[in-house]
Amino acid sequence: MKAGYARFKNQLLSIVIPVHNEAAVIPILLDRLDTVIATLESPVELVFVDDGSTDNSVALLLAGQDHLARIRVLRLSRNFGKEAAVSAGLREARGDAVILIDADLQDPPELIPRMVTEWQKGADVVLMKRRSRAGESWLKRLTASLFYRLINHISDSPIPVDTGDFRLMSRRTIDALNKLPERNRYLKGMFAWVGMPTVTLEFDRDSRAAGNTKWNYFKLVQLAMEGITSFSTKPLRVALLLGLMAAGAGGMFGLWEVLKVLIFGVSTPGYASMIAVITFLAGVQLLGIGLLGEYVGRIYMETKQRPIFILADELETGSSRNQFPK
Ligand code: UDP
Ligand code: MG
Repeated sequence: MKAGYARFKNQLLSIVIPVHNEAAVIPILLDRLDTVIATLESPVELVFVDDGSTDNSVALLLAGQDHLARIRVLRLSRNFGKEAAVSAGLREARGDAVILIDADLQDPPELIPRMVTEWQKGADVVLMKRRSRAGESWLKRLTASLFYRLINHISDSPIPVDTGDFRLMSRRTIDALNKLPERNRYLKGMFAWVGMPTVTLEFDRDSRAAGNTKWNYFKLVQLAMEGITSFSTKPLRVALLLGLMAAGAGGMFGLWEVLKVLIFGVSTPGYASMIAVITFLAGVQLLGIGLLGEYVGRIYMETKQRPIFILADELETGSSRNQFPK
């Protein structure tokens, strides 16, 4: 260890891992994490958040006895979704730095030492940027890229392109994040909103080591709506503008029709253009109302003040090497 970094020796690292039916990867994951942890100087706690798994994920997590890190398994009362699971892990993590990583090994744990080094050099956030994405279809890549372009266009705190949740955050960043009270959680946006001095490292994203993705396009669309509505009210302004434009065009068209009657006398044709205008305006109105509904619905959810997740219990298995106070 380099002398200047001696003060980091007893600083605890938390690795937060959301888990939802990942029995297929857990043995590999624990193995690879152990190998990585062996090379780290600091004590490590692994904070697994079991997001309502229905397979034997939890049993597998607690099965191995002789790990190099303390293993904590926080069990949520049901499946709350990844964003809630990660929120639970971040709130319960005790580390001076917290690393967030997926269970499916798409984010290689072997990069953790590099992330820790950047943190020790002074970064508050070490962001992992994907250079490539193995095992993801061109459709997913295309929709992801379009979505980021859109959201960064309308949001006030842009989200770095090609980054996921894989990152390291310092204690003060985590504390700031834990203070954000919203129930509709779009974490990537919240991370960006918190800010803090950030270092970005590039890596090649692997494909899932085993098991199946828990995402589908329905969930992605939901998350996208969350991302757009929770970080910007600009869509409302777009609806307003669209309404103004439609009203202006409609007004001018009406004026033209009246003039025509005055100059050329009454004529019946015009049915087609009337239907066209009516349907167009109805569409614009429905769009505006729907958009408003999205925001009102979110206001409704927020006012209920329900917790983001319910922690059912916490299980733990010891570490033979790293001893640190509770
Ligand atoms: N996950 C979770 N709750 C869910 C769905 C997923 O905690 O409801 C976890 C999952 O176990 C994994 C991470 O979130 O650790 C990413 O999930 P997945 O690999 O299925 O998503 P993708 O990488 O395909 O976007
Ligand atoms: Mg994955």
